[in-house]
Amino acid sequence: MRKVFLLVFILILGMSCEAFEVVYPKSQQATINSASTFFIGNSCYNLTINGQKVPRNSKGAFAYVVPLNIGENIFEIEGPIKKQIYKITRPTPKSYATTAHKQIDFSEYKTVITKQDNVALRSTPIDAGINRLTHLPLGVSLTVSGEKNGFYKVILDAQQNAWIAKDDVINTNENSQAKIINIEYLDTDEFYTCIIHLNKKVPFIMSEGSTMTLKLYNVEGESPYTINFPYTQNFDCKKLYGYSGEYLGNDFIWKVRKPPQIDSKQPLKGITIAVDAGHGGKECGAISCFGDKEKDINLEIARHLQQELKKLGAKVYMTRTHDTYVGLKDRVNKANENNAVILVSIHGNALPDNLDPNKNSGTSIFYYYEQARPLAECILNEMTSQLNLNNDKVRQASLALVRNTNALSILIEVGYLINPDDSSIIRESDFQKATAKAISDGLEKFFKN
Ligand SMILES: [Zn+2]
Repeated sequence: MRKVFLLVFILILGMSCEAFEVVYPKSQQATINSASTFFIGNSCYNLTINGQKVPRNSKGAFAYVVPLNIGENIFEIEGPIKKQIYKITRPTPKSYATTAHKQIDFSEYKTVITKQDNVALRSTPIDAGINRLTHLPLGVSLTVSGEKNGFYKVILDAQQNAWIAKDDVINTNENSQAKIINIEYLDTDEFYTCIIHLNKKVPFIMSEGSTMTLKLYNVEGESPYTINFPYTQNFDCKKLYGYSGEYLGNDFIWKVRKPPQIDSKQPLKGITIAVDAGHGGKECGAISCFGDKEKDINLEIARHLQQELKKLGAKVYMTRTHDTYVGLKDRVNKANENNAVILVSIHGNALPDNLDPNKNSGTSIFYYYEQARPLAECILNEMTSQLNLNNDKVRQASLALVRNTNALSILIEVGYLINPDDSSIIRESDFQKATAKAISDGLEKFFKN
């Protein structure tokens, strides 16, 4: 009789709740090249992995770290009514032949020319993300003096070198020097614009500091040709609101956005803000302990943020409004076409296999250019004081969305979707609304000050 009761009890429980769900590793047969990994999921009941009890939070979410030996690793996950076997293979580490990447100096300088748009010029001969000095369009002539690691060493001037991937350029017999024909200065409602008419495209670097500086290299006479901004009074370079530098033919057009007019009673009135819900369509992003897709959570928060900002009088441009795939470059281009002053990208965080999801939690905000850092700090302050999540810091990172200079561009990782507690909160509709409110309050404060 007692057995029957127990069976009925388990059946009822079984109907109201899947025994347990493992969302990561994604497959029961996986290859993971790491010394450890984790099981992420949720369960209504106690469960064990290889006989060890798995701690769950009050909502049933768990993240359980396991070491991996080289070769096959078997994990048996067992709850009262279900058992699953995972076979995870950790491959034998490849012994890399130590190809010493020595620098080769050429006997004489060569000229190369960029063969596509958006080519990164770097401070070191590695693809390290953050070492980007600038991005060059198609057809820019450069003088190179040597090579290392698949990169050419670029001579910018007597003091400054840079590196460019060999694959991004082709050789040319042309001389790399250009002539400045004349310079025009324009002053319109929104921008200070400087147009430098050249007879060919040369490398350039724009930098932010106590002034904005544009340097054009390989120009006849004074090289680099340097223009400091502001060349007008009453412009505080510590508060930049975006700038751009691009070629139109051989004319280099440098635009610096004027500070928007702020109505202190309604600081966001008339301000164009691009709201970007990360991922979408075929790209799910991270998967939470409960199986929620990051793309859906991002879109929910973005929609609430759109409503909050509209209430405050902002003009909001959404890079996506539905579950559709939009490329990174398209997102940035659309924000710029709509003349956004602010670009806010909404995401949820995850971690690589070798880190512990129980030890990483909370909100972090990423920026790339100094101009966006005060905004990132202001919004993070507001989010961490209004929402019950850990402060996971403001961080500089080379992400496509934050490498946009035209607007103050930030990327918010609201929380870690694979952290049990974060994932339990982030899925709540009330929390998503509160997150949007905190971001919107942060934006309002930023413009008020
Ligand atoms: Zn994401």
